[in-house]
Order: sequence, then structure tokens, then C-alpha cells
Amino acid sequence: PSTLLMRGVCKTFSTGTVALTDVSLEVAAGDLVSVVGPSGCGKSTLLRLASGLDAVSGGTIQVNAAATSFVFQEPTLLEWRSAQKNVELIDELRGVPRAERRRRATEALELVGLTGFERQFPRQLSGGMRMRVSLARSLVAEPDLALFDEPFGALDEITRLRMQTELQRIFRLKQFAGLFITHSVSEAVYLSNRVLVMSGRPGRIVADIAIPWQYPRP
Ligand code: ADP
Ligand code: ADP
Repeated sequence: PSTLLMRGVCKTFSTGTVALTDVSLEVAAGDLVSVVGPSGCGKSTLLRLASGLDAVSGGTIQVNAAATSFVFQEPTLLEWRSAQKNVELIDELRGVPRAERRRRATEALELVGLTGFERQFPRQLSGGMRMRVSLARSLVAEPDLALFDEPFGALDEITRLRMQTELQRIFRLKQFAGLFITHSVSEAVYLSNRVLVMSGRPGRIVADIAIPWQYPRP
């Protein structure tokens, strides 16, 4: 079964703005689906509906995921906690024992290439490294569904390229389902195995392009 299934989804805000009309899509485990389109076509609205932060006005959304994780453009790190402690936060709230918490955070930081930076505080890290800490924190939550709202939009080009490569590697390894919003067509094509193009007001999906993974999964 697909992790995220949308059928004929429409969204009209109380202001009268019709943001989305007849949007259908499917994201299965191991899929990283990108959504591209101009500002105002309803990409963020789509993601908010998928996360359950907002309700549809028509159509249906099915989410088969025990945990969903949301990654924003601005990494929301706690400045008074080290990278390691930021990543441990979710497990701390879940009551995971300390040794286990450490092990899981260390592993997540390794996955995003931050081994050696565990004790650094957010302000000591570069923008790219802060984004990696934020990504590691999402990974610790072991999401079945990960929703990304232009996470690399504020990064310089080189850092962005590195992050794209890393995210793709992590996706193939972890096999969760991902929906990734971006303004960048090249980012969408490089990163994902499906690209949905949105357009118009209200926004709708005008193209659905499969891009088979280039290499076998590990
Ligand atoms: P995108 O992410 O593609 O830039 P959005 O999903 O943010 O597009 O917005 C789609 C349309 O819905 C826009 O016309 C926007 O003004 C409108 N919109 C978004 N959020 C709200 C809201 N909370 N209330 C009213 N209108 C909204
Ligand atoms: P990115 O943003 O992708 O991490 P940067 O160009 O900012 O890339 O950093 C490149 C490398 O420089 C990092 O991987 C790290 O090894 C080192 N570095 C960057 N910022 C710091 C810092 N504040 N303290 C120590 N090393 C750093």
C-alpha cells in the first residue's frame, strides 16, 4: 500500500482563495517525489494537507505512516544545545534511555556526515551543517513519511549539491516515503524518482514524470 495517497484533493481557504483543485498523487515507501512549480501554485498548501496541519475542502487523503516528519527551509535548532543534544531531543521526549539515545543520535549524525561535530553548538556550525543537524533529528524520529518544504532553498550552491547527494543516499538506505517541494527543476530531476509539475491558479498537477533511479538500491 502507498504511504501517502491523495485523490481529487481541493483546497479553498476561508478567504475564498482556491489554492488547489483535483490533485491526485501517490507516494510509496522508497519513493522520493518532488513537486515543482511557480510561487503561489499551491505547493506549500499541498504539503500542509499531507501533514494533516490543514484539512482538505474536497477529495481524500490517506496516510499509512506511524510517524511523519516535516523538514523546513529554516532549521529550527535549539541554540543552547549541542548538535548531539538537538538530535537526541525527540528520543528524550519519548523517554528513550540515555545510552540508547546517544547511540541513535551518533548514528544519525554519522549518516549526515557530521561525525566529529557532535559537541558543537548550532552557532558554531555553517548553514549546511545546521541543515544536516536538522535532517539528522528528522531521521532519529524514523519517519515513514518525510515532507520537505524547500529545505535547501537558503543554502549556497555547493552545499546544496552536497545535501542533495546525501539526501538521496539516505532515502535509498532508509526506504521511507518522501514528498519534496522545490522551485528548482534541476534539483527535482536530480533528487527524486518522480517529478510532479504544478501550475495555475488554482494549482493543479499538469505533468507527472517518472525518473527511474540510476543505480540499484543498496
Ligand atoms: P506555493 O507554496 O506554491 O508558493 P501556497 O500553497 O503558499 O503556494 O499558496 C497557494 C495559494 O493559496 C496562494 O494564492 C496563497 O496566497 C493562498 N494561501 C496560502 N495559504 C493561505 C491561507 N492560510 N489563507 C488564505 N490563502 C492562502
Ligand atoms: P557545509 O556547509 O556543506 O558543511 P562548508 O563549506 O560550510 O560546508 O564547510 C566545509 C567543511 O569545513 C565542513 O565539512 C567542516 O569540515 C568544516 N567546517 C565548516 N564550518 C566549521 C566550523 N564552524 N567549525 C569547524 N569546522 C567547520
